[in-house]
Amino acid sequence: MSKMNKEEILKRLEGIVGKDFASNKAEDLYIYSQDPGASEPRPVDFVVMPRSAEEIQKIVKLANTESIPIIPMGGGLTLSGLILPVHKGIVMDMKRMDKILEINSLGRYAVLEAGVTTGSLVSYLKEHHPDLQAPIPDAPTSATVAGNVLIHGSGSLSQKFGHHAGMINGLEVVLPTGQIAKFGSCAISKYWFSKAPIPDLIGLFTSSFGTTGIITKVSIKLFPKPNERELIIGLTQDFGGLPKLMSKITFTEFAEDIMIGHSHTPITMKNFCLVMVYITGNSKEEIDLKKSTIQKIFKENSIQAAPVPAQTRNYMMDHPQYTASFAADWRKGGGFEYVGSFIPLEKIPEAIEKGVIISEKYGLVPSLLCRIIGSGHAVMFSVTFPFNRADPDDRKNAREGLEETNKMVLEIGGVPWKTELIGQKLTMEKADPHYRDLFKRVRNLLDPNGIMNPGNWEV
Ligand SMILES: Cc1cc2nc3c(=O)[nH]c(=O)nc-3n(C[C@H](O)[C@H](O)[C@H](O)COP(=O)(O)OP(=O)(O)OC[C@H]3O[C@@H](n4cnc5c(N)ncnc54)[C@H](O)[C@@H]3O)c2cc1C
Repeated sequence: MSKMNKEEILKRLEGIVGKDFASNKAEDLYIYSQDPGASEPRPVDFVVMPRSAEEIQKIVKLANTESIPIIPMGGGLTLSGLILPVHKGIVMDMKRMDKILEINSLGRYAVLEAGVTTGSLVSYLKEHHPDLQAPIPDAPTSATVAGNVLIHGSGSLSQKFGHHAGMINGLEVVLPTGQIAKFGSCAISKYWFSKAPIPDLIGLFTSSFGTTGIITKVSIKLFPKPNERELIIGLTQDFGGLPKLMSKITFTEFAEDIMIGHSHTPITMKNFCLVMVYITGNSKEEIDLKKSTIQKIFKENSIQAAPVPAQTRNYMMDHPQYTASFAADWRKGGGFEYVGSFIPLEKIPEAIEKGVIISEKYGLVPSLLCRIIGSGHAVMFSVTFPFNRADPDDRKNAREGLEETNKMVLEIGGVPWKTELIGQKLTMEKADPHYRDLFKRVRNLLDPNGIMNPGNWEV
């Protein structure tokens, strides 16, 4: 229980970060008490915006003595209520820690403060290192790079190089007990180039939703950026054939990104899946070879070439690509959620079939997306749930749809991604009891006073 009153705590926070960067005013807390998704708003006691790991360290020590929860927040765009306190507390907005500390162009990695947004990294690379690219999600560009890699995000490089958490080379973390610790090669050397070869503790901080520490620096891999990029689009009615088709396309090692879209708008698309294969290269010859190879596979598998209006194609070629905005406002009122999950490649047809049934049950126009991850090692599968923010019933409808989709994903052998509280509970219920037990013990060891985003990943 907190020993100080709220005003005393605020004074202490102001003393650490400065008067302009700590608040408990209702008008400041309002925006932090909700996210863009379907979760109900939840109360927040304080918001702080630290500028350094040392400031965070002081806040963590205060939170420990006063038993106040801390909820780390990047862009706050995960849509699953993950940055909304379950038991009130301090929302720690990381956006002032926005320095790009190092780009090692030869070793192809970037060391970033945790508040660096995907937008600022993309523009920095465009200006200073046009031949390099970073793993970037198709999320709004105010999302942070750290927030995205920490939740196993994915994007246009994920087919080729895997999900974004696998691209972490190193972390600096303020532990829940206040120590500033380094993980990866940076724990041993001044170079942040690799997470190996030492026992890998970085996994303690990924998809942990801020329950194991506050990441202050992250090193991520960068990749060569080819000059040319092209999109090959096809339509198929053979949903059952999609896993084999994906296997054939990934076997060529020609695709940078592969997505499968299934939407019932326009209604004529009801019986089709749109297959989008992005290829890249450094010459016209390279692109032509890759294009003709993919087109040959399309032909052999009776995939029809799809006429796409130029405007839509421009949209699809955007990088990051905002296809989500097609589905975002169907209900009007600006509410958008999606259930994400990782599923095995072979489960694509079943996931699509069941996702459609759930969408229709909740009165929604089905809008589903699969993105191939790591040469087909996994598929990011999502079902979109647009809702009207002003209508509580519609919001509830979206939440129920999300829950049912999470159940379905678990039933077919997948794992919910960046999931909200109910999905976390369902996932933990299904988990191997020894995994669950060890996770609980590790968490208690790291955070003996239970101050880090409590309520999330409760075992
Ligand atoms: C329209 C739309 C499209 C999207 N498309 C994609 C996509 O293509 N691919 C994709 O991967 N995602 C996508 N997303 C999901 C999400 O927006 C992104 O993954 C985003 O990068 C999350 O970053 P963030 O900074 O908003 O994280 P937050 O929401 O701020 O945080 C995510 C989680 O990490 C924790 N966290 C954040 N920072 C820290 C820190 N410094 N230390 C410890 N814990 C921390 C938070 O507590 C929370 O649990 C999309 C979202 C929207 C709205």
